[in-house]
Amino acid sequence: MDNDRFCPACAAPLVEREEAGRMRPVCSKCGKIVFYDPKVAATCVVEREGRVLLVRRGNQPGYGLWSMPGGYVDRGEVVEEAAAREVVEETGLVVEVGRLVGLFSESGHPVVVAAFSATETGGALEAGPEALEVGFFDLDGLPEMAFPRDPLILRRWREMQGGG
Ligand SMILES: [Zn+2]
Repeated sequence: MDNDRFCPACAAPLVEREEAGRMRPVCSKCGKIVFYDPKVAATCVVEREGRVLLVRRGNQPGYGLWSMPGGYVDRGEVVEEAAAREVVEETGLVVEVGRLVGLFSESGHPVVVAAFSATETGGALEAGPEALEVGFFDLDGLPEMAFPRDPLILRRWREMQGGG
């Protein structure tokens, strides 16, 4: 998952070595250990009349499959603002970000997804440049989803609706 080949400090080649409990890239010249941080992404579950907003992805991974609108949080960006930004970029809808549905991560995978519930406040539904299609779907009639976490996020969201 990590493919840097050269030291960020001195540009000498990196080698894999056990450091601080696991195999990590280490500089062959200056000894700098490279620690990879998780990547944070944010996504929103936006509901309209009992259906949820989905985007048919125009990017890999998951090209042509469906997911909730979302994307990477920029360093220094407020996570909720990133979530709202991704919704308007991909679907044209302006939303107010509400409660955290949960944090979703997988062993061996660099991405941590923060999923929020969000409410429409404006805009007009239109697929953005990175989306092939956008639409609202019944939870019982979902199209093929891009990521294994997507059904988990929607299930958790539905449980939250039921529980108040
Ligand atoms: Zn170095």
